Amino acid sequence: EILQYGGRNERKIRVFCRIRPVNRSEAAQGGVVVVDKLDDHSITVETPRGLREFQFDKVFNAESSQEDLFQDTKLIQLVIDGYNVCIFAYGQTGSGKTFTMVGDKDQKNPGIMPRTFNAIFDIMQENSTKFDFKVSAYMLELYNDRLQDLLVSQAGEAHAQTQPSGPARRVEIKRNRKGVVFAQGAETKEASSGQELYALFQQACANRHISATMNVESSRSHLIVGIMVESKNLTNGSVSTGKLSLVDLAGSERAAKTGAKDHQLKQEANSINKSLSALGDVISALSAKLPHVPYRNSKLTQYATRVKAITNNAQRNVESKEIAQLKELIMRLKSGQTVEE
Ligand code: ADP
Ligand code: MG
Repeated sequence: EILQYGGRNERKIRVFCRIRPVNRSEAAQGGVVVVDKLDDHSITVETPRGLREFQFDKVFNAESSQEDLFQDTKLIQLVIDGYNVCIFAYGQTGSGKTFTMVGDKDQKNPGIMPRTFNAIFDIMQENSTKFDFKVSAYMLELYNDRLQDLLVSQAGEAHAQTQPSGPARRVEIKRNRKGVVFAQGAETKEASSGQELYALFQQACANRHISATMNVESSRSHLIVGIMVESKNLTNGSVSTGKLSLVDLAGSERAAKTGAKDHQLKQEANSINKSLSALGDVISALSAKLPHVPYRNSKLTQYATRVKAITNNAQRNVESKEIAQLKELIMRLKSGQTVEE
């Protein structure tokens, strides 16, 4: 499908490939680079069966900076114009998902998420004579097939206010009578500046599950940041809501490869693989046009296919569009993964 925007035709699904630099331990072990950027749209991969070529909407090489990746803010403009946009990073642990989406630990090289927080408000500022904007966000973690609200800490204040003596609040995916799926209980907070969004994000990161036994860099959970932008046209009073979903997925490696030894780690690996393979099942069913699409098999797929519903905005049904987008994206990712493995 083609999206008409700003006088240009753009494909609705875009798959980008970012090659990360070789790290010190890889270099020390005598690792060789098998991926090569051919041009802006293709790479080659050396496999045991020979050289294979893959096409992408855009390829970033190992020298690409975080700025290079973020140069194009068209997607943010789309959200402000009332569209729904989802950006997610996929790949095995260590491939650079968190670096790309979040940035490095000390935020010397901020990634897409923190950059987006400021860019949203910058772009809104440019449009402020014609529109009134309201920005709100929720931040969730999907861990062991459980959705956890990162804007509500276990012993947090928001929780204490609403449920003084109840157990820690958990987000559940529910379906209402109209068939709209939504994340029940997700805390949505308003923000009036990029700094405020960033503060929410820091709070969310502090609330994440980090297993003490694991390398902090190999995240075992999916991080989901949803930013809703409501814009009111000051001329005619019409209101539209766009949403940007930014997702840092857990590693895509197989359970056997994670080297998980104890029970907790095995359980984590299984759960991550369950949600990623459920995503694959959904895509297979969609591409084979099966009458039953098993998107209820995991929370990730429920989330992915029904992203829009979380905002509780039932007016516009974009579900089928999202399924089409997801389908195309995963098909391409899948072909890439086959080679890697
Ligand atoms: P993932 O989230 O996919 O498991 P990370 O983003 O944590 O991977 O990346 C693994 C390591 O490689 C981190 O130390 C990260 O800082 C580094 N890294 C990843 N991508 C880049 C890059 N493009 N440039 C420099 N360092 C990178
Ligand atoms: Mg990571």
